Amino acid sequence: MSGDALDRFIAARRERFTEELRELCAIPCEASDHTALDAAARWCRDRLAAAGFADARELRAGGAPALVVGETGSGKRVLVGVQHYDVQPAVPLDLWKTPPYQPALRDGAMYARGVDDNKGHLLLRIQAIEAHRAVLGELPIRVRFLIEGEEESGSPNLAKLLALEPGLTDADGALKEGGALDSEGRSILSLGGKGILYCHFRVRTMTRDAHSGGATHYPNAAGRLAHAFASLVDVKGRVQIEGFYDDVRQPTDADRAMLERMPFDARATRAVVGIEAFAFGRTDDEAKWASVFEPTCNVCGIESGYNGPGSKTVIPAEATGKIDFRLVPDQDPMKIAALLRAHLDRHGFGDVEFSAEEGEHPYRGPADAPLVRAVAAVAEEAFGTPAVLVPSSGGTSPMWVVCNPRRMANVTLGMGHPGAGAHAPNEHILLENYWRALRATARLYSEFATAR
Ligand SMILES: [Zn+2]
Repeated sequence: MSGDALDRFIAARRERFTEELRELCAIPCEASDHTALDAAARWCRDRLAAAGFADARELRAGGAPALVVGETGSGKRVLVGVQHYDVQPAVPLDLWKTPPYQPALRDGAMYARGVDDNKGHLLLRIQAIEAHRAVLGELPIRVRFLIEGEEESGSPNLAKLLALEPGLTDADGALKEGGALDSEGRSILSLGGKGILYCHFRVRTMTRDAHSGGATHYPNAAGRLAHAFASLVDVKGRVQIEGFYDDVRQPTDADRAMLERMPFDARATRAVVGIEAFAFGRTDDEAKWASVFEPTCNVCGIESGYNGPGSKTVIPAEATGKIDFRLVPDQDPMKIAALLRAHLDRHGFGDVEFSAEEGEHPYRGPADAPLVRAVAAVAEEAFGTPAVLVPSSGGTSPMWVVCNPRRMANVTLGMGHPGAGAHAPNEHILLENYWRALRATARLYSEFATAR
C-alpha cells in the first residue's frame, strides 16, 4: 500500500478495524436464530452511531428482523448503502477448517461465515466514513444506510419496513451489498441482478406407495413430476411456459457494448465444474450473453420413492421438487407464478401443486450515471487496474424495491476474491483487498459529490 494520508490512516487502524470485523462475524445471525439477529442489528446500530450517524435506529414490522437505518453527512447528493447483516447457514460444519463463528486469521485472510457476504462489505463502508472524516474532511454528500436482516431469505419484509418511512429510498444512487474482484484482480462493478421466483412442488397420485407389479395401472408420482418438469424447458434451455418471455426487456446498445467489453473466461468457467461443453449446447458467446440477459428455469432438487442401498420395487405415491426461476427485467415474479400455473393446467398437470415461496423482482440500473463513473474511477485508483462493468450478475439482491421508484443507479464496489466461498464452507476474505476496498469507498464519498 502506498503512503498517502488515507493509507496511513487505514494502516494505523488495521488492528482495531480487524477486531471489529471479528466481533461482527462472531454473531451467528442465521435466519433461524432470532436472538443473534437482534444482537447483530444492535451491533450495526451502535456502530453507525459511533461513526457519527446521530439518528441510527432500528425499524420493526411484525416479527421480522430489524431494518437498521441511519444517515450522516451533508450535501446535495444522497448515496444509499443497501446492506444486510444476516448470513447463510454455516452447515455442513464438518467442512469448516475452523468454526464458522470463531473468526480466524490465517495467511492474511479472515475466515468466518458472512465475512464476505455481507459483513465485511457492510463494515468497511462504515469504517470508510471515519476514514473520510479524519483525512478528507466532512462528508460532501449524505450517506444513508439501510441494513436489513432478511436478505438471505429473499427480503420478504423489506418493502413493508421501507414503507414505515417513505423518504428512505429518496436518493441519487445506491451502493449495493457485496462486490468482487476477478481472477486478474479487476474490480467487478455489477449494475444489476436477476430476480427470483422459488417454487416448491408436490404431486400425490395415490393414498400410499404400491408394488411395482401394478405399474401397468397405478400412477407413479415421480414419473408425473418428471414429466411436468420436462414440459417447462426444452433441450436448448428455452423456457416453454406460454408468455414467459413477454416482459423481457431488450438490452440497449449500451448494454451490448458493456457485454462486449466484459471479460468472460469460458475455459475457466467450464473447468470450475469439470465440464467440456456448456449446458444446452451453448457456445462461449451464447453462454456469456445468457449469464447476463437470459432468465432460467432451474431444478434445485427432486425427491421421491426409494433411494436407499440396494433395490426396492415400488411405485411412489408422492414426489416433491423445487425449482428456481432467475428472472430478468422486466419480468414480474408473481406474474410468472400465474403463468406457471396456467401452463401446468393447460398441459394436463392440474394435479401438480406448487407454492411460490420467494419472489424478488430483477433490477438493472442505468450505466450512464454519475455514481457508476465515480465508482469506476475510485476502483481503478485503489486496485490499480480498470474496473469491469457488468450489466447484471446472476444473483439476486433486493435492489428493485429500493431503486425502481426512481430508476436509480446501483453498483457494487467490493473486495471478494474468486475463491472467497460466499454461501460455502471456509468463507474468507483477503485483508489486503479489504484495505484497498476501504480506501476506494472512502474516496467514493468525495468523488460522488462532484461526478457528472
Ligand atoms: Zn449478500
